[in-house]
Amino acid sequence: MNYFTYKDNRLFAEDVATDQLAEALGTPLYVYSARTLRRHFRVLSDAFKGSDTLICFAMKALSNLSVLKLFGDMGAGFDIVSVGELMRCLRVGADAHKIVFSGVGKTDAEIEAALKAGILMINVESRPELHRVSEVARRLGVQAPVSLRVNPDLDPGTHPHISTGHRDSKFGVPFAQVGEYYAEARTLPNLELAGLSTHIGSQITETGPFNEAAQKVARIVSALRADGIGLKYLDLGGGLGIPYQEEPPPPSEYAAALLGPLRSIGLKFIIEPGRVLVGNAGILVTRVLYVKETDVKRFVVVDGAMNDLIRPVLYEAFHEIRPVLRRSGGPTVTADVVGPVCESGDFFARERDLPQVQRGDLLALMSAGAYGFVMASNYNSRPRAAEVIVNGAEYQVVRERETFEDLIRGEKIVTLKGGPDA
Ligand SMILES: *Cc1c(COP(=O)(O)O)cnc(C)c1O
Repeated sequence: MNYFTYKDNRLFAEDVATDQLAEALGTPLYVYSARTLRRHFRVLSDAFKGSDTLICFAMKALSNLSVLKLFGDMGAGFDIVSVGELMRCLRVGADAHKIVFSGVGKTDAEIEAALKAGILMINVESRPELHRVSEVARRLGVQAPVSLRVNPDLDPGTHPHISTGHRDSKFGVPFAQVGEYYAEARTLPNLELAGLSTHIGSQITETGPFNEAAQKVARIVSALRADGIGLKYLDLGGGLGIPYQEEPPPPSEYAAALLGPLRSIGLKFIIEPGRVLVGNAGILVTRVLYVKETDVKRFVVVDGAMNDLIRPVLYEAFHEIRPVLRRSGGPTVTADVVGPVCESGDFFARERDLPQVQRGDLLALMSAGAYGFVMASNYNSRPRAAEVIVNGAEYQVVRERETFEDLIRGEKIVTLKGGPDA
């Protein structure tokens, strides 16, 4: 469900025609729908109604300040993975006590910043990290609220690059050793054992793996209780998929799968949804530069590229491609949709059936809200695209298109001793 729909064969974002946005702001252009973002948050909140659950938006999926503000105002907390993300949260006035900090490689400076900000908890992923957090907290003279992220050792059936809950992934502490880790944590100074966390992967389209993970963490919580370790929070991670091509379960079924094994556990729950909140609330609008025919293939060359949206080559991801202006009838063509970057991996789609397109046409890559702009780079010295948010009949730019000056900021032309002949 989203608010990108055709009216008179024109693709609208809510009540704004996306071709007008492209004319006014240029391409490639990320367009987000505020109504879709709000709706997704509400539907997910409703699914967890009746349980004590805090929704911490996994902001790495889409982290511009305006989107963070929108979710913060709706009561969301945030799942962060770096000090940069922490600072973004603080910049929009987020409640630090609703922030959890995930990630396998937190630096001392990041741990210190999180403790000083007073976040809800640090999700610790290894024994040495546990020691570092204790040490930094001792130095600061504070108690550090920590949870251990357990790797539940299961296969969520998603792409290997976004699967995190398997035994040989770098994430979390081994399932069989969680008890030992907590026992050790209890002996370290300045640690408050606040919770247990897990996150099994991303773009998961069945409820089974969530249910299995919930059962496994329920067992750990009981075992810890028997050892006299009482926790406050159970962080169940994110990972619910969206319909790129496959059909994920609705949030209500997801909530039931997670909460079923945990009904009687009596802890506060945290979930860390990223993609499901923002994925289909954003599109990437791009313009056709050339239609190139060879004797074996047809290429639609557009002005967006892998530096704008890397998911197709990174995850073999499927993005639906729609014409911004739909012509009725006409034959379809099969083409690779590619960008200008000098890499064979620079494609949005291969062997895709599209309506007839010509130079100047606009295309929309659907469901580009999650892991789209946030992964953009300046490769090939391409300025990053502008981001605009639509709200009803109005739109506002939330991030300007980068300029050449942005590209070279911080660079210096140094004079090298010895000159050209050295
Ligand atoms: C990326 C991530 C999430 C969000 O995953 P989605 O699939 O976008 O919901 C949640 N928690 C952690 C720890 C993550 O790394």
